[in-house]
Amino acid sequence: MNKAGRVAVVGAGWAGLACAVELATAGIPVTVYEAARQAGGRARSVALDGHTLDNGQHLFVGAYRETLRLIRLVGENPEALMQRLPLRIEFPATKPAFRLALPQLPAPWHLAFGLLAARGATLGEKISAARFMQRLKRRRYRLARDTTVADWLDEEGQHGAIRRCLWEPLCLAALTTAPAHASAQIFANVLRDSLGGQREATDLLLARTDLGRVFPAHAARYIAAHGGELHLCHRITGFERDGKGWQVGDIQADDLVLAVPPHSLPQLLAHRSAHAPLLSQLATYSYEPIATAYLAYPKDLRLPFPMLGMAGPTGQWVFDRGALDGNAGMVAFVLSANGDWDTLEDGELVQRLHHEFTALVGPLPTPRWQRVIRERRATFSCHPELPRPGNETAEPGLWLAGDYTCADYPATLEGAIRSGVEAARGILAGR
Ligand SMILES: Cc1cc2nc3c(=O)[nH]c(=O)nc-3n(C[C@H](O)[C@H](O)[C@H](O)COP(=O)(O)OP(=O)(O)OC[C@H]3O[C@@H](n4cnc5c(N)ncnc54)[C@H](O)[C@@H]3O)c2cc1C
Repeated sequence: MNKAGRVAVVGAGWAGLACAVELATAGIPVTVYEAARQAGGRARSVALDGHTLDNGQHLFVGAYRETLRLIRLVGENPEALMQRLPLRIEFPATKPAFRLALPQLPAPWHLAFGLLAARGATLGEKISAARFMQRLKRRRYRLARDTTVADWLDEEGQHGAIRRCLWEPLCLAALTTAPAHASAQIFANVLRDSLGGQREATDLLLARTDLGRVFPAHAARYIAAHGGELHLCHRITGFERDGKGWQVGDIQADDLVLAVPPHSLPQLLAHRSAHAPLLSQLATYSYEPIATAYLAYPKDLRLPFPMLGMAGPTGQWVFDRGALDGNAGMVAFVLSANGDWDTLEDGELVQRLHHEFTALVGPLPTPRWQRVIRERRATFSCHPELPRPGNETAEPGLWLAGDYTCADYPATLEGAIRSGVEAARGILAGR
């Protein structure tokens, strides 16, 4: 095989882009095909009536090591692109109001002091939460058997406000899967790398710009500057073996990376019998929706913190876009995972969010502009013991990349980036 032979990547989501960036850095010519008009996949910018927003409000955390490295690799400074804030989880509407704010102390004191100083939880709950984290650390975040987050929290004696306002919302935010159905082991992995890591790992990173300008646009430019190509509006419908390589799109490639979501794989692989076991595995996957409701209020609206928890019955999280990207007065409500909110029409959903929001921050006029964006298959449902394929496939030279292949992680940007990097490393190792 030609050491510098071309690689074709199908899909310019964050996984495909990460893979292409790594390969381009190593001097490999790479061609990326993307079906959509823009790169970014499930984390992309959208232009709506003159507002530049995202298909879904995303949250990054300090633990996103590979994401931060790749943003730097493509020539950008993540600290300039994102606002870094010490972790603060606040539910002003619970009775009593809940607030956990981690102080700027070295690990593990930041967590110990933060938990003990949390407002809205009893001392017993706080001590129990600190002990739970200590036990987890001693067991190196490995569970004897995977179960649901809800059962695990029961077994570990996690109840009350800390459970309702910390563990359960964290589970929903990170795994997009309700605690009653979510994998405890994957949640433990998330805790290992965030609350169990260095203080910086727990920081919230909130984009100061739309998602396209956090990574996809810079990655595309970097790929082009390193001799690669990105073809937008180019859906790949099939590919063929060509000697030791592949005929795909208009090119011949030594290696082919399918960086598409799992539900798109059957269209590409169904005619290749070697992949029947993979396709049967992926057929067991189910998916979770996420909606982002953007409501524009008077431009002087400011939330006490750019991200606030809402205690329902409908709202989950609200973000102050004005404090982040300068869209003054714009707030983004995020609703994750199958739930009652998903049965509501947009108008009804907005009305309820507006009502709950005014109960939280005080009277406000009817929003001057509103839009709900629903992603029906935002993430795979992160169930216990969910089988996860790796990057290699049954055919040499054919690789997978995408959040679902990063076995350690739920469907996240960091999982997508890590999977893309791993696919690139696998290709480079074989040359
Ligand atoms: C609304 C929403 C909110 C989210 N919030 C967060 C968050 O706060 N934090 C976080 O870390 N993660 C979040 N996620 C998850 C994160 O966005 C995803 O895990 C990540 O973007 C997945 O990237 P990917 O590259 O694996 O897949 P995708 O983004 O799905 O990329 C696959 C690409 O392949 C393209 N494609 C498919 N078929 C073909 C074909 N035949 N030919 C050519 N191209 C093709 C698609 O158009 C797409 O661009 C959220 C997701 C959504 C939808």
